[in-house]
Amino acid sequence: FDAKHQALPLRLYHADIHDALTRRLEIEQGLRRALEQDLLTVVLQPKYHLLSQQLTGYEALLRWHDAALGTVAPDTFVPIAEAVNLGKKLDCWVLKTVLRQISLWCESGLQPLPVAVNITAKHFSDPALYEYIQSKLSLLALPADCLQLEITEGVAMDNAPAILENLNAFRSVGIKVAIDDFGTGYSSLSYLTSLPIDYIKIDKAFVQALDKGHNLSLVKAMLAMAQAIDVSVIAEGIESAEQQALLAQLGCEFGQGYFYAEPASLSETEQQLLDVHNAG
Ligand code: C2E
Ligand code: MG
Ligand code: MG
Ligand code: MG
Repeated sequence: FDAKHQALPLRLYHADIHDALTRRLEIEQGLRRALEQDLLTVVLQPKYHLLSQQLTGYEALLRWHDAALGTVAPDTFVPIAEAVNLGKKLDCWVLKTVLRQISLWCESGLQPLPVAVNITAKHFSDPALYEYIQSKLSLLALPADCLQLEITEGVAMDNAPAILENLNAFRSVGIKVAIDDFGTGYSSLSYLTSLPIDYIKIDKAFVQALDKGHNLSLVKAMLAMAQAIDVSVIAEGIESAEQQALLAQLGCEFGQGYFYAEPASLSETEQQLLDVHNAG
């Protein structure tokens, strides 16, 4: 029996946990700094009407490159932000950035397309969210339909009255709301169908599995359900011509993914809007 060898795995285990906690803390502190000093970036991914291949709008996605931490993915830092109560701050930063950009485009005579902003779970049950958005829109004299919102299935299933109030308020002024990552949660369809939502976004996992013949009946069922409750469908993560053709054939209306375009910077997007403007 060798006590030294017994102790080794335990020490490694502690070291792993310690590293993970340190990393989390560094990300939290870095994020606070980034929010204060405007070190985050918004990129926009185009959305298309599948049958006509027409550009219909964008989704705003956060990017963060920190001098010390390197590039940190939103899948990593958004959940940490939510856990340390930074979700609202993060959302507001994105909303402010996106609306300011749309306003600049309007001023320069460009016809902006709707931009969808992802809203963190807890923030969507905050009654102040609607007020915040309304005040920003009126300050910039922007029409409500230049902005759309994306919330996850879990938020929509949460029964908090404030969520329904927000959904109704957005509906009443024409801000469309999408349920993101649809199919990955455990939604009660009957409850979902009672909500005032405008789109469901089929999660990219289902879209990508279509190639191998998987999930075909599941995607068909989602499309049938969406049609029954009069909600439009956006497929996310379309990566191939086969996926896009199949989805269009099944009656899916909109889509986004690397097959069409990766998320691009605001200035690249401006060039795209100019091209559409000049062509039209
Ligand atoms: P999401 O809202 O479901 O966004 C879709 C993700 O799929 C994005 O990842 C996008 O870059 C990626 N994507 C787009 N097309 C394709 C494709 O063809 N193939 C594959 N494999 N991926 C594709 P991203 O930007 O890394 O964001 C990940 C998640 O982080 C988002 O999922 C969203 O939940 C969250 N997130 C990103 N930006 C924000 C933000 O500004 N605010 C909040 N609250 N959450 C955000
Ligand atoms: Mg989204
Ligand atoms: Mg999604
Ligand atoms: Mg996602």
